[in-house]
Amino acid sequence: MKIKEIISVLEEMAPLAYAEDFDNVGLLVGNQNTEASGVLVCHDALENVIDEAIAKNCNLVVCFHPILFSGIKKITGKNYVERAILKAIKNDIAIYAVHTALDNHQQGVNKIFCEALGLKKTEILIPKQNFIRKLITYTIPENAEKLRNALFEAGAGKIGNYEDCSFNSKGIGTYMGNENSNPEIGERFEFVESDEIKIEVTFEKYLESKILKALFKNHVYEEVAYEIYDLQNQHQNIGLGMIGKLENPMDEKAFLALVKEKMQADGIRHSQFLGKKIQKVAVLGGSGSFAVKNAIQAGADAFLTADLKYHQFYEAENQLILADIGHFESERYTKNYIVDFLRKKILNFAIILSEENTNPVKYL
Ligand SMILES: [Zn+2]
Repeated sequence: MKIKEIISVLEEMAPLAYAEDFDNVGLLVGNQNTEASGVLVCHDALENVIDEAIAKNCNLVVCFHPILFSGIKKITGKNYVERAILKAIKNDIAIYAVHTALDNHQQGVNKIFCEALGLKKTEILIPKQNFIRKLITYTIPENAEKLRNALFEAGAGKIGNYEDCSFNSKGIGTYMGNENSNPEIGERFEFVESDEIKIEVTFEKYLESKILKALFKNHVYEEVAYEIYDLQNQHQNIGLGMIGKLENPMDEKAFLALVKEKMQADGIRHSQFLGKKIQKVAVLGGSGSFAVKNAIQAGADAFLTADLKYHQFYEAENQLILADIGHFESERYTKNYIVDFLRKKILNFAIILSEENTNPVKYL
């Protein structure tokens, strides 16, 4: 099996197009045409993890955080990033990062976070904007089913838990070809009125070239009649953070004790207790201080995230309990999810969970 075949499974788990613009995801080091010997899944691809990959004969390291994040101009081994990269290249080890591609996924980082806490009825906290487009095409009735199915096959028509979604209406199309035309119905210079079906489907914008390919391959007209629009709709199933409900309301202190236990946190920093029961809980694994207002707007009783600064605790504004449970801790089960996903899709292949603890933060 080549590394690129494993990458296609990783992309199925978390399409790279879901990643945030600032991010650096995908294959960071290595050649995708190399034969894969094994996969080591970790949180951070540090030098000790590369050593572990060498010892366990894995030439692909799949990490959550991209070790290469900002541009570097020299690779001399003067810091922890350069040392990891140097060692990986010297030992022919590829590195692939998932990061916000999985943060934004409905089944990703924050779903894993919610499930660890037993939250139900989960929804995306900050649905992604400008991600959906609409294709409208017109064809003869005899071509409609084949064309529709080809568009579905290319990924169009998926809305939440539904697939093969489209809207179809009948109408009359008109046209007249010139001397160079070769019309499917009628002759050159003939004004034609023809029964047509208008097919409307929505799709995630990164699929556009695939969908256009299917459209052009399966449409019978010499000039394919189609329109594409950007939609203002939010994508309800992609985005950062998640909000869900505890089965039963809990006291604030008991709730944070539960979080501490379930997320194996060594310490939780939190805003002042409000004497209210906690039931609606928003989460955002990793650095989530930017989403405090979204959690308040969504009516959360508590917001769990990490990397909060002193002043940011004031932003709770006595509306909710704001808690910093630790960056690593809030994302800690992500690597297990990646391992499980890969093992389900790739049978009889070495997919190993790293045993290195890469959390740089220690507690007394
Ligand atoms: Zn993170």
